[in-house]
Amino acid sequence: MTTLKDTTYEPLTTDTAIKLSKDLQLFNEDDLLFAHEIGDGNLNLVFRIQEELTGKSIIIKQALPYAKVVGTSWPLTLDRSRIESESLKRTYQLVPNYTPKVYYSDSELAVTVMDDLSHLTIVRKGLIEAVQYPKLAKDIGLFLAHTLFYNSDFGLNQQEKKIQSGRFINPELCKITEDLVFTDPFFDHDTNNIDEQLKPFVAETIWADQSLKLEVAQLKQTFLTKAETLLHGDLHTGSIFANDDETVVIDPEFAYYGPIGFDIGAFVANIILNYLSQDVHLADHPDKKAEFQKYLLTVITETWNVFEEEFTVLWNKHPQDAFMNTNGYLGQTLDQIFKDMIGFAGCKVIRRMIGLAGVEDVEAIIDLKVRNQVKQRALSLGKEIILNRKDISSIEHLVKVVTKYA
Ligand code: ADP
Ligand code: MG
Ligand code: MG
Ligand code: MG
Repeated sequence: MTTLKDTTYEPLTTDTAIKLSKDLQLFNEDDLLFAHEIGDGNLNLVFRIQEELTGKSIIIKQALPYAKVVGTSWPLTLDRSRIESESLKRTYQLVPNYTPKVYYSDSELAVTVMDDLSHLTIVRKGLIEAVQYPKLAKDIGLFLAHTLFYNSDFGLNQQEKKIQSGRFINPELCKITEDLVFTDPFFDHDTNNIDEQLKPFVAETIWADQSLKLEVAQLKQTFLTKAETLLHGDLHTGSIFANDDETVVIDPEFAYYGPIGFDIGAFVANIILNYLSQDVHLADHPDKKAEFQKYLLTVITETWNVFEEEFTVLWNKHPQDAFMNTNGYLGQTLDQIFKDMIGFAGCKVIRRMIGLAGVEDVEAIIDLKVRNQVKQRALSLGKEIILNRKDISSIEHLVKVVTKYA
């Protein structure tokens, strides 16, 4: 039997995934194991390994040397698997309740072996079906406050932060964000995916607007240069598992040191897109629609409020910098995070309407004309919050802007 250390990279099959689980002694030698590839993401393989009698199960995620969504013509570094497992381990130290435990990782094989979360649902799927998650906002607010604070110069020893940030240099995945979120959607670029009927609206509203482009250029520069904290980097609702009691965040392969507002903005953008899509999904159930959309708005407000409160608690409890006791410094910092967050949320909303990867919430709208109407509203909303982000004074104010577009 080859030892794991000798193994060179090869994509796993269900058989080799079972063998790996046994070699790692995560199951007994004579256990009867079944494996299925369950990945529905754009980039990686995900295997679920289950023991027949006890039902005990684990997940093995493996990076492919290319992007699954495009194929072998788009090579992509396997190093993202190392980044993902190191990020999960760091995050588990800070917020174990919100993080799958990693049992094994191997950067050569590009695998991460972790908790099976199949008892939970991917939040994007639940929200499309108008499922309310009572703890989602509080959990994500706390997740954001703890991870964003304790990995920053505000909450981590500043020498340690420099060393830690060196392990999360993630140029290839950052470039995906730089291109697909910040650049391509704002130009008539061939990676965009736009229906012909929608194109004139995009050309006029987005591509021809120089003031919008100036703001987005600033936001992109912030993403490129503001190495404040270790981000998740891809915190959309497809990266969150939840039920009534539990919330767990997966898939941090885009992790890198970037601006604190980025993850918050990504989450808020995805809630906004679900909100707009419910105008159609729940059109025949006006009462349910009103109730569910109201819930989504409380998710936005509560997530920010919990983040802000908890960040404040941590700031006062564990200051790493002498200036943190200076009157006004916390307020100034939160204010900047808030403005960055709104700008990033706007970019993420626009990118999902124009760019390479859409969101199921909106793409599931079958009637093309209706779908394009939702996309137009989303594009206008994204543009408004980017342009006005410096004048949006509170989370309630942001929510009020959002409601104008429903
Ligand atoms: P990708 O990076 O390719 O997007 P994800 O980590 O998002 O991969 O996983 C893709 C899918 O695989 C998830 O949407 C989920 O259905 C499943 N999956 C991933 N991790 C787990 C897990 N720990 N437990 C159960 N299912 C998982
Ligand atoms: Mg994913
Ligand atoms: Mg759990
Ligand atoms: Mg991913």
